[in-house]
Order: sequence, then structure tokens, then C-alpha cells
Amino acid sequence: MKHRNGRLEVITGPMFCGKTDELIRRLRRAAIAKQKVQVFKPGFDARYSVDKVTSHAGNEFEAIPIENVSEIRERLSEGVTVVAIDEAQFFDAAILSIVDELVQKGIRVIVAGLDMDFRGEPFGPMPNLMAKAEEVDKLYAVCMECLEAATRTQRLVNGEPAHYDDPIVIVGASELYEARCREHHIVPRL
Ligand code: ADP
Ligand code: MG
Repeated sequence: MKHRNGRLEVITGPMFCGKTDELIRRLRRAAIAKQKVQVFKPGFDARYSVDKVTSHAGNEFEAIPIENVSEIRERLSEGVTVVAIDEAQFFDAAILSIVDELVQKGIRVIVAGLDMDFRGEPFGPMPNLMAKAEEVDKLYAVCMECLEAATRTQRLVNGEPAHYDDPIVIVGASELYEARCREHHIVPRL
């Protein structure tokens, strides 16, 4: 009977659309409802703090940084009923079987992550997670060019749109990401 409560929820959209805020909102409600919650995030994302997920609006929630998604199995505490994973786009395809396992155990799994990379291409395991989810919320940010709804993440290197084939890390360059609508999302090809 345990699988009856197990479900997968995905929160997705571009950078700044409020994925982490929405994740934290759901976790706080779950905690009030006396659910035992555990949050995981990639250990290589040390943007703000390593033992928390932090939103751009400043909300935070305790989280366990992991290098490899299989660590969720080892670090899962007894009696956990809600598992959240933030920045899920950075994990490999192994996340799919781990999420399936958790849901099968009756756990509510909430995954947040970018649906597309800066080029507008599907990001890592997110398309598969979205396909398998009971519930998917695609949130909008605000386009920094026209203030309409933004569905994309613009990468800017030294103030200019990054090329499709630019390396992920450009040594010595100043880079920035901003939310953009489809019309204002620019990805030049070399
Ligand atoms: P995500 O996890 O999707 O990157 P966060 O939850 O960290 O988003 O942050 C969402 C917050 O970012 C918003 O509530 C708002 O305060 C702030 N913000 C900054 N820039 C933008 C933007 N272009 N569009 C919408 N929100 C923005
Ligand atoms: Mg976030």
C-alpha cells in the first residue's frame, strides 16, 4: 500500500523563475504537516552556502550537498516521507532510477531544475523526469529585455550573448545569466 502516497513533482523553468522559492514553500508546508523532509543538492554548486538551498529572493532551507546522486540511497534517513532535489539538471541519468525507487517506497519526491540550458536545449535528466512526473509546474521569470514572461536563460559573456558552441567555462571572462523570453533569447552560432 506504501506506493499510494509516492509521487513525483517537478518544478522547472529558466533561471530566476522561482523554482527554489516554490520548492522551499512546499517543504515548509510539508514540515508543518509533520512530514519528515530531506533535501539534496549537487555538492559542486557552492553558489551561496554548501549545507542549504538558497533562492535569489533569500529564502533558505537545510540541504545535503552530494557529489553523486547515488549518495541519496546511503544518506536517506529512517522515516523520511518527503525528498527534495534542487538543481537536478546537474545530475546524471542515474537520478531516474533513484527517484523511481523512492516513489515506489511511498515517498513524495519534489525535483526542481532548469528545463533548458543557455542554448535552449533540454538539460540533462530533466526531460525524462518531467515525462515521468505526476505533476509538472513550469514557472516563468521576467524577461530582462521586454518585461514579458521569460522561459529561457540568456548567457552573457563579457556582456555579449554566448555562442552555441562556447565552452561551459571560459577562463578570464566575466559571465552572467539573465531570464529572457523566446524572442529576446539570442544564441549565435559560429
Ligand atoms: P530559481 O530557483 O528558479 O533560479 P529563485 O527561487 O532562486 O529562482 O528566485 C526567484 C526570485 O528571483 C524571484 O522571487 C525574484 O525575487 C528574483 N528575481 C530576480 N530576477 C528575476 C527575473 N528576471 N524574473 C523573476 N524573478 C527574478
Ligand atoms: Mg534555484
